[in-house]
Amino acid sequence: MTVGESSSVSVLAQRYFRQTAELFGNQLYLDSVPDLSHQGDALSLNDFQEHICQCVKCPLGHTRTKFVFGVGDPHADLVFVGEAPGRDEDFQGEPFVGRAGQLLDKILAAIKLSRNEVYICNILKCRPPDNRTPHKDEIESCMPYLEEQLNIIKPKLIVALGTTAAHAFLKVKTPLGKLRSQKWKWKNFDLVVTYHPAALLRNPAFKRPAWEDFQWVNKLMAET
Ligand code: URA
Repeated sequence: MTVGESSSVSVLAQRYFRQTAELFGNQLYLDSVPDLSHQGDALSLNDFQEHICQCVKCPLGHTRTKFVFGVGDPHADLVFVGEAPGRDEDFQGEPFVGRAGQLLDKILAAIKLSRNEVYICNILKCRPPDNRTPHKDEIESCMPYLEEQLNIIKPKLIVALGTTAAHAFLKVKTPLGKLRSQKWKWKNFDLVVTYHPAALLRNPAFKRPAWEDFQWVNKLMAET
């Protein structure tokens, strides 16, 4: 192991201790230290998922069926972030598998992408009961996981799908329509905002502007 590799392992270890202590408290976290020495300079997405998938930091951890971490290419340049798992996602443990997800797949196909070539996840990893809008404290509790997940993936562009995702990233309450068509910065990432596929199902008038957004996303990706 080189000096550079050993210092990145130590950063990862510190991060791991912080996260585990946050989850389980100081008593347990020494028992569950992962072997990071084989990982060179990158904590894998799978390892990170394993470390957090028992989370009960917020009450949704007690009502979920499955923890919905994310799906797709762990090195994707393009990441889509929705709101939270719904009923189908909670059952299957995979984001965007219900009606909204099927529409997302069609939109991706229209820009010649499949869900294996991008990464798809949500602001929350657990389903809010009856699909209610996520609460502020749930978002605050889950956002560090998303941040770490995105730090591991290192996408070139994040697409926030819908108002909840847009507001969670940008910390504004501006209507979604006014947040579109601009390139934002979140942490070190470029981010754009568009309508949630479920909103397109409810209101077909959003389809045209959403289609323009996705074409713009395609153009941005071609330029990177
Ligand atoms: N809606 C979301 O925001 N995410 C999903 O995974 C499914 C529906």
